[in-house]
Amino acid sequence: MRGTKIKATVVLVAMLLSLLMPAGVRAADRRTEVENFVKRLYTLVLGRECDSDGLKFWADDLLEGRNTGICVAGQFFESPEYTSRKRSDDEYIEDLYTAVLGRDSEKDGRAYWVNVLAEDTRNEGADKARRNIFGGFANSAEFTGICESYGIVRGNFINGVDITTTARVDLFVQRLYTIVLGRTCDTEGMTFWTTALINKEMTGKQVAGEFFLSKEYGDKNVTDEKYIDDLYRTLMDRPGDSSGISFWKTELNNGQTRQSIFYGFSDSPEFLGICESFGIERGEVEKKAKNKVVCIDPGHSSVVAPGVVPLGPGSSSMKAADASGTYGRWSGLKEYELTMIISNQLKEELEARGYEVIMTRYDNTTPVDCVTRAKVANEGADINIRIHADALSNSSANGAVAICITPNNPWNPQTYQGSRALADALISNYCSATGIKNRGVSEQDDMTGNNWSTVPCVLFEMGFMTNESDDLKMADADFQKTMVKGLADGIDAYFA
Ligand SMILES: [Zn+2]
Repeated sequence: MRGTKIKATVVLVAMLLSLLMPAGVRAADRRTEVENFVKRLYTLVLGRECDSDGLKFWADDLLEGRNTGICVAGQFFESPEYTSRKRSDDEYIEDLYTAVLGRDSEKDGRAYWVNVLAEDTRNEGADKARRNIFGGFANSAEFTGICESYGIVRGNFINGVDITTTARVDLFVQRLYTIVLGRTCDTEGMTFWTTALINKEMTGKQVAGEFFLSKEYGDKNVTDEKYIDDLYRTLMDRPGDSSGISFWKTELNNGQTRQSIFYGFSDSPEFLGICESFGIERGEVEKKAKNKVVCIDPGHSSVVAPGVVPLGPGSSSMKAADASGTYGRWSGLKEYELTMIISNQLKEELEARGYEVIMTRYDNTTPVDCVTRAKVANEGADINIRIHADALSNSSANGAVAICITPNNPWNPQTYQGSRALADALISNYCSATGIKNRGVSEQDDMTGNNWSTVPCVLFEMGFMTNESDDLKMADADFQKTMVKGLADGIDAYFA
């Protein structure tokens, strides 16, 4: 009776001790477990006791999350030491049974695998054949159980992918389980995410995003502070500092979504570094909406708008509604074709940079008068860029010029400052990008489209179609990309 009581007390004390045990003791226990996993491989694969350097090397790798069970076991089986043991196919299969499945082979099973190995060896050579069979054994539930019993992440074997590459991706996934979900991975889940990352079906950013969007994470109902701290730990590899957390908390209070804050973190250089360290692709940076609308007005059209329009709102002075424009003396391009080519590319570039873009015409056959060109921009655009090319009878004239209204424009002088700033930004960025001669900014009040514009407006002459060099450059597809970049940089500079 007495003995039982003492025993019960000892058990209780032991339980209490295990609850109170300092982390250092538990870490020592964990090291012992992991070392036992490594010692087991020395015995069963290499047929000898471990040396202390080797033991420490592999145990550190596993303990510090730098390696998976499959990767370590695979490296034992592919080591020069194992190769030098010259194990027969029969012995190789037996070694896989004992080390990877944790049991002796059964006669039929072993014969089956020896056959498979022999056939694979004929088809793919001995190294590849052995590696593939190792992979089949290592991906088993038995090896999962062995790894779990030693507290080790099993990882995956993916056919045709180097085991160390797979292990790195496995550890990236494991890291998400640990930090975001606060648990070790299930093998099925890890296989799913690792395969998607290795096959480049998903990026690091997308996988991390899925963890934060998961039902499991949602069910935790974390506070804003905890959410932000989780983002810091996962995507920047450090806990959130108080000023950072309060900054992001204010962003949330001001109506930013958790998803948009996620992008703020996942687009950081820190997360790029994390992804690179695991050998995976981070994924593209989200486009940040600039909340700016640019109107592009591709000059002219093959069908010229008929009639006349007032030079400015309420003006009695009338001007042709539009003009047919010039053409390339060497390229043969019509001005309306060139302006459309550049406008379409500029639209694409600006949208990629986060702008919203509208255009005054989208094809080469719609006539648009110059008042309408201005009115399209006036309805909702922040600026209006009118794309044109120049002409002079003197073929040596060359270069670009940006045309805006004067400070004394009779109709919309309030747009002068913005228009002039836009003209300066466009001409300097365009000319430095392209090397086209900079003819500067010309202020004049005889352009109907400029005069009607109630938002900052510039008519941009990109170069002379009557000059051989300008004309051939502007018609060149590669050069056009430079022109577009210069114009887009000018717009960025204006809004900056
Ligand atoms: Zn023109």
